[in-house]
Amino acid sequence: MTIKTRGYATHSASTELKPFAFERRQPRPQDVVIDIEFCGICHSDIHSARNEWGHTHYPFVPGHEIVGLVAAVGREVKGFKVGDRAGVGCLVDSCRMCPSCEAGLEQYCEKGFTGTYGGKDLIGGTPHAFTLGGYSETITVDERFVLHIPENLDPASAAPLLCAGITTYSPLKHWHVGAGQTVGIIGLGGLGHMGVKFAHAMGASVAMVTTSPDKGADAKKLGADEVLISTDTGAMERARNRFDFLLNTIPVGHDVDPYMALLKRDATMVIVGSVEPLKKVNGIPLIFRRRSLAGSLIGGLPETQEMLDFCGRHHITCDIETISIKDVNKAYDRTVRGDVKYRFVIDMATLSN
Ligand SMILES: [Zn+2]
Ligand SMILES: [Zn+2]
Repeated sequence: MTIKTRGYATHSASTELKPFAFERRQPRPQDVVIDIEFCGICHSDIHSARNEWGHTHYPFVPGHEIVGLVAAVGREVKGFKVGDRAGVGCLVDSCRMCPSCEAGLEQYCEKGFTGTYGGKDLIGGTPHAFTLGGYSETITVDERFVLHIPENLDPASAAPLLCAGITTYSPLKHWHVGAGQTVGIIGLGGLGHMGVKFAHAMGASVAMVTTSPDKGADAKKLGADEVLISTDTGAMERARNRFDFLLNTIPVGHDVDPYMALLKRDATMVIVGSVEPLKKVNGIPLIFRRRSLAGSLIGGLPETQEMLDFCGRHHITCDIETISIKDVNKAYDRTVRGDVKYRFVIDMATLSN
């Protein structure tokens, strides 16, 4: 016996998403079943659906920015009850025994975490070998990987917090961004717009670093204090050695050297967007001011809950455009063109229309 569900899937790298019926496992004692209300569209969904990273298994159901209502709980579940608003982000399982898992940093599980979609399903209970994501009616997830969504947050606008939100919150916290610091957010998309909101809420003075004056103006509305146009060589020269921290959300490989020069002595730039090779990295800007170039991947479960609670206290959500699931393929094309402010969120009620 399984739970029958409906969603949208792709069946090859070159075909569009279309309706797909599949199965979820019945809840084990520690599982939570969620009726999905909303699911964000992350750029990773598109890369995976189109097999651009080369490890997609079909049929493939994307979606790892999931918000919904708890529909059932296993008998050992302590933290959730039916009717609670709950979220699921990028991971649904990990080994739970390695030093990273023990530290609540499941995203760095040394055996490899199980992604919400496309991960080898080690729990089983369905005919599907690989996990299927949140573009669907329901999902069954171990309680450890389920999050509480604060009551005061709009559920649709909260959905992208589960990936875009935690991806930017985690490095800002890890590198202790706060009042009295000047922080640069490089790039304004789904990630960058959350970086601006978080860094501002943490009390830092925020600069949007972008090639586009229009995006600079938009960033100011989101909380940026200043704009640095990265193609303006004079402005970049004057901004050398000014920044306590840089969050680099550029989604493609690029030359990091011009940005490294903006950092103060001992300061760090963190890469969160580019999962492809960076261009050459010159040692000189690193060596001469003891600067660091680092990376950061989403966040663990405890920190993701901390981020959601922070959003509840500070009334932070994502700026979104809600769509019907029937428009998901158009939304993919618009996301690839950068034509969205700043995240599409699928209203899952439209599956039944
Ligand atoms: Zn994502
Ligand atoms: Zn582990």
